Parts: sequence; structure tokens; C-alpha cells
Amino acid sequence: RAKAGGRGRVEVFDESLRRQLHDRAQLEQAIRDGLPAGEFVLYYQPVVDMTTAALQGYEALLRWERPGRGLVMPDAFIPTAEQSTLICHLGRWVLDEATREFAHWLEEGEIGAEDDLTVAVNISGRHLASASIVADVKNALLAANLRPERLVLEITETVLLDEPAAAPHLRALRELGVRISIDDFGTGYTSIGQLQYLNADTLKIDKSLVASSRPGAVELVELVVRAAHAFGLNVIAEGVERQDQVPALQRVGCDSAQGYLFSRPQATMGAHPSAADPQLSPASSLNDPVP
Ligand code: C2E
Ligand code: MG
Ligand code: MG
Ligand code: MG
Repeated sequence: RAKAGGRGRVEVFDESLRRQLHDRAQLEQAIRDGLPAGEFVLYYQPVVDMTTAALQGYEALLRWERPGRGLVMPDAFIPTAEQSTLICHLGRWVLDEATREFAHWLEEGEIGAEDDLTVAVNISGRHLASASIVADVKNALLAANLRPERLVLEITETVLLDEPAAAPHLRALRELGVRISIDDFGTGYTSIGQLQYLNADTLKIDKSLVASSRPGAVELVELVVRAAHAFGLNVIAEGVERQDQVPALQRVGCDSAQGYLFSRPQATMGAHPSAADPQLSPASSLNDPVP
């Protein structure tokens, strides 16, 4: 009896594992086919100055227009892509597309070339550790005819612990003049003291910390900002959704902000609603949907 039950359990386990592997293989294949088919698009979200709300740049965020499934968000396919070198193919496409679109947008002349606007791209640890990353970045910059200073690579704080091979690549990229931004700070295990060793230009404080109303949360953000500044890092608050968050973030010295309050990620650059008056935000079908 016990034996039969045990075998039953094994079969159930086998069945669900088989199903999982099957689903993953299918998703992988769909991504692989979708890339040359033009199913992937970039949305752009403005980063603004915390005190003047002036535009400072954009973050490129990947979306998948999967036939029959609508707009698929990155959390639904990036983790699967990260299980193989597929993430490097996606990453190369994002680098090429973001720099090309940004350079095109600069050439349109909507803003002066003297404005120091940047475009930020998220890079997976696996891609950063791969032998091709430096060439991938160089190629994208060359093809778009974009100065390295215009490009920001966003990496999560745990990448350097998880992917030791990424460290020399990061140094080479910084030597090129590309800027490095530490994403989602406050969700991993990096201590404030470790900020001094981060080879980076910018620190992005994660929205979970920015939005926290727990006692001490504001003081913690202030501590992070002060340490970051002491080590020469600029600080961006992520996920700013409400006007009432702004005074506190200004008070603790956050340099920049990003979030729905200013603009949702949208399919184009340039036409973002006035950051100074988020109330003017137009409802557009090309914006990320309002939940
Ligand atoms: P992330 O890099 O931290 O990007 C910020 C995420 O927060 C985006 O979600 C953005 O749409 C969302 N967000 C922005 N403002 C607000 C706000 O005010 N409130 C809330 N609740 N959310 C806000 P998204 O686009 O779904 O991307 C999720 C994550 O997927 C990104 O987090 C990034 O880690 C990853 N990702 C996106 N695009 C790429 C890519 O091209 N390559 C790689 N490797 N990862 C990507
Ligand atoms: Mg990011
Ligand atoms: Mg983030
Ligand atoms: Mg994130």
C-alpha cells in the first residue's frame, strides 16, 4: 500500500516535471522564433530630475507582442530566456534597438545634442558574464553612431556576486565610457558599505523601499542616499507613483525619479506627458495599461 502510494507520487512528480520542461521548451522556442519575426518591442520610461522634473533620459523596457496573447511583460519570459544563451540574443537585440531608436530620436532634433540625455538598457548577469558583451555594446554604439556616455547599462546588485566573470567586462565597459547603474537596490544583500566597491555611476533604489511606509524606511533611504553620494553615485528613486512621495524623496536628497507619477513606459520617446504636470498624462493605448 505504502509502495503504491509512493509510486503514485513519483508518477505525479514525473508528470508535472515533464509538463514544466515541455512548457519551458515551448516558451523558449516561441522567443527564439519571435525575435526575427519582429514580435519584440521596447517601451521607454522617462527618468526625471527630482527637483525640476526635467527629463534626464529613458529606460528601455522589453515587451513581447506575442501573437494571440497580447502584450507580454518581461517577468513572464525573461527568467526563461535567462536559463540559456537565449538571453544574450535578446540582450543584443535590446542594445541594438535602444541605441538605434535613441540616436534616431536625437537626430529628429526634438532636443539639443548638448542635453546630456541617456538611454538605459537592462543587462542580465548571464549576458554581462558572456565573452561577447563588450563587443555587443561596441557594435550597438557604432551602428547607432552614439557616444558611449549616452548609454547606461543597468545591472542588479547581485550580478557581481553571482557572476564573477562579469567584473572584468564591467571594467572594460566603464573604460569605454559607458555608464553603469545598479538596479533594484534594496532587494538583494548588498550592504551600504559595499557601495564603495561598486564600479558604478548610478544607484537605483527599488520601488519596494521607495514605497515602504514601515517605520524607519525614510531614514533607511536617507542613509542609502548619503552613502551613495559619499561614494560618488547618483541616486534614482524607482517606482514613484504618488505626488506625496516627492517631498520626502527630495528632502533625503534623491537626485532623480522614475515612476508612473511622471509617466508609464510608452512605445515612443519624446512624446511623454509633461513631467511637471503628471495630471496631463494622456490615456494612450501605446502606454503600459493602467492596472
Ligand atoms: P526594472 O529594470 O527594475 O524596471 C522597472 C520596472 O518597474 C518596469 O517593469 C516598470 O514598468 C516598472 N515601473 C515603473 N514605474 C513604476 C511605478 O511607478 N510603479 C510600479 N509598480 N512599477 C513601475 P517591467 O517593464 O515589467 O520590467 C520588469 C523587469 O524586467 C525590469 O525591472 C527588468 O529587471 C526586467 N527587464 C525589462 N526589460 C528588460 C530587458 O530588456 N532585458 C533584461 N535582461 N531585463 C529586462
Ligand atoms: Mg532597470
Ligand atoms: Mg529596478
Ligand atoms: Mg526589477
